[in-house]
Amino acid sequence: MDSLYAVPVDPVVPPAPVDVVNQLEVGALPEGLTRLFVELVGDGLGHGIRVPVMVMRGTRPGPVFGLTACLHGNELNGIPVIHELFRTLTPEQVAGTVVGVVALNVPGLHRYQRGFTDGTDLNRIMPGKASGSVAEVYAHRILDRIVGQFGFMVDLHTASFGRVNSLYVRADMRDRRTAAMAYLQRPQIIVHNPASDRTLRGAAMAMGIPSVTLEIGDPQLWQEAYTRSALEGVRAVLAWAGVIEHAQDDLHTTEAPVLCRTSSWMYTDRGGLLEVFPEVTGHVEAGERVARVRTAFGDVIREYEAPAPGVVVGKSVNPVGQTGARILHLGELSAPGDGLLGRGECGL
Ligand SMILES: [Zn+2]
Repeated sequence: MDSLYAVPVDPVVPPAPVDVVNQLEVGALPEGLTRLFVELVGDGLGHGIRVPVMVMRGTRPGPVFGLTACLHGNELNGIPVIHELFRTLTPEQVAGTVVGVVALNVPGLHRYQRGFTDGTDLNRIMPGKASGSVAEVYAHRILDRIVGQFGFMVDLHTASFGRVNSLYVRADMRDRRTAAMAYLQRPQIIVHNPASDRTLRGAAMAMGIPSVTLEIGDPQLWQEAYTRSALEGVRAVLAWAGVIEHAQDDLHTTEAPVLCRTSSWMYTDRGGLLEVFPEVTGHVEAGERVARVRTAFGDVIREYEAPAPGVVVGKSVNPVGQTGARILHLGELSAPGDGLLGRGECGL
């Protein structure tokens, strides 16, 4: 039986009671593993919407390292990464604290959807508002009640519905700390992104928390190969931050990820049935035909060419392509002189 979880046969245990708090206070927790629900808002019948959080406090002092999953409610691959990490951590191994936020967007998870209860994308409205719409307040409290405790953060995502992604990281590659975190994650692709875009990562960076976003495969799935790779990367980043010891073979003996100085989506300008040709992580040339749109009767009405050379970070796999549908997420390759840090330039 294949499982994402490394233990071949997990013992079946009854669910244990879990404390509910309104504020994560890492410093007040005992050494060892604590499981909590952090209540962020109330629903229309007064029941709390509660975020499941795991905390491992080590026996030695050190930073607080936060992992967050499922800010987009249908992006699930980060969940087993957190479960497996915590299964293997002991307080004696940890200097400081590891916090695993299993699912940030609880209502979205229940609805199998990216957005919050009202459809709002929580990763486009950060830092939210202390007084505002339910999504704005929820976003604000994610930062205020949970993320504000962190010294470092890795935010775990996947592609969106109808798309597939490479294993890739978005990070500020001019910042030595976040560049190091990006390389240690050993993704297929790194996209430089300075994080001024109302995302959770951007809000955390503005709070002085070095943060990267890791995109792990596809939505509403658990994908073993991607999650194993992501977990190895997370362990390497934790070791770099001084939180755990981790036997790591030399980074420089492995193939460097493809580094992009920017990336952008291509969109359709005609509606129809959409085929996208290149595979993720594939390279395309300027002018290379990358997609085709057909009518309901199968006639080709539009073809699309890559506007520039680049690497395919992600792509649409949804054949129903109305006008404005996403085609390809095209990464523009970094070149010498653009100021992005290489592996050797961020102390690795
Ligand atoms: Zn996402």
